[in-house]
Amino acid sequence: MTDTNLTAIVYKKGDLRLEDTEIKEPGPGQVQLRMCNVGICGSDVHFWTHGAIGDFVVKAPMIIGHEGAGVVNKLGSGVTNLKIGDRVAIEPGVPCKCCKFCKQGRYNLCPHVIFCATPPDHGNLSRFYCHDADFCYKLPDHVSTEEGALLEPLSVSVHACTRAGVTLGSRVLVCGAGPIGLVNLLTAKAKGAADVIITDIDASRLEFAKSLGADHTVLVTSRDPLDTANKVEAILGDKADITIECSGAPPSIRTAIFATAPGGCVVLVGLGPADVELPIVNAAVREVDIRGIFRYVNCYPTALAMIASGKVNVKPLVTHRFKLEQTLEAFELAKQGKGVKIMINCEK
Ligand code: NAD
Ligand code: ZN
Repeated sequence: MTDTNLTAIVYKKGDLRLEDTEIKEPGPGQVQLRMCNVGICGSDVHFWTHGAIGDFVVKAPMIIGHEGAGVVNKLGSGVTNLKIGDRVAIEPGVPCKCCKFCKQGRYNLCPHVIFCATPPDHGNLSRFYCHDADFCYKLPDHVSTEEGALLEPLSVSVHACTRAGVTLGSRVLVCGAGPIGLVNLLTAKAKGAADVIITDIDASRLEFAKSLGADHTVLVTSRDPLDTANKVEAILGDKADITIECSGAPPSIRTAIFATAPGGCVVLVGLGPADVELPIVNAAVREVDIRGIFRYVNCYPTALAMIASGKVNVKPLVTHRFKLEQTLEAFELAKQGKGVKIMINCEK
């Protein structure tokens, strides 16, 4: 029986289709993967529902999906780090490896990066997919390909917690209990945070965060950012050393600043409106550092080690599972904001 390559493609805003595409051969330094699992991320849903995120506009049909893991099916020329049959997690952004940022090791800032399912680059929600072998990470036998796919969001939190300086005893506020807030909760705890407090406007998301080990939760009920900051301070007995903002909501970003102790650090992970009014003098005179993060850099090996060693358990994040053939159904569910991580299985 000849193989076919069922593939999920966003044609334009509101137009997601499943179609057979050609099976590509791996180029030099690449591997061809038989895809196993791809998680759905908010950005995938957004490209489908809005046809764009900021300046990234779907102008031509784009294969969706970037949280993937698969099995090596073919080796391109020169590949020595992997062999056929290896199960791997796919780091979706392949940088140029030549520019100033790449040479500094900050390859997430590479202006030439090719990133799965960020237009115009294709993603990997398909049966077969080719990727640079050095951006594929072999999974130990006891780590599943679902966990491999979850290395993607987990890597975002490894980068955020590193940029934030989370360490033994840190008291950390995480704003927003979506998948990204939840992985930040798990990573902060794994890094030794003494107290992690998490906020959301949705009580069910906070319940879920509690089940994952949040020490405290705060239901945001007021649009006054000081109200929420005061609640956080009342629970912690002090302001947080570190705040990791994972909602992108302007009131929450303001809360993040007010709730952070003098000399502390706010890391902005959530991306909402491009321009946001902030209590910037408050941050300045209290020496609260405000840092951004862009995806992750050199984080996959750490994220994998965290899972393989049992320091972090990401398995409970997967609340729904679908087959590749059910992709449209899975995206509909994701659009409704149901569940936490929706996982698609691409195996026949
Ligand atoms: P999500 O939409 O599932 O989660 C956001 C959560 O924030 C939701 O649970 C929502 O109820 C909550 N929220 C909304 N308003 C709030 C408020 N005022 N206070 C507290 N919580 C509030 O999204 P996600 O997949 O978890 O991603 C979170 C954010 O991280 C998104 O903005 C996404 O674009 C961004 N992101 C950034 C990077 C990066 O590299 N910087 C990488 C991945 C994701
Ligand atoms: Zn580069």
